[in-house]
Amino acid sequence: MAEEHGYYVDEDRCLMCGQCNLVCPQHALKAFGPRHIDQSKCIQCGQCQAACPAGVIDYR
Ligand code: SF4
Ligand code: SF4
Repeated sequence: MAEEHGYYVDEDRCLMCGQCNLVCPQHALKAFGPRHIDQSKCIQCGQCQAACPAGVIDYR
């Protein structure tokens, strides 16, 4: 099955700082541990990518 385009966290490099959780209007990111985006909630606004200090959120 083809993966849909969207925002994804490189979970191996996530600092678990929570900045993405603070800016996401959809509460689409898991709130603990290495972050993961629930694609069914994400509206692809890009705010998490802009806020991530580690640059580990990419659109692909
Ligand atoms: S792209 Fe927007 S809606 Fe999707 S996880 Fe990031 S902040 Fe939330
Ligand atoms: S802002 Fe980036 S480093 Fe911080 S928890 Fe979210 S994905 Fe991980």
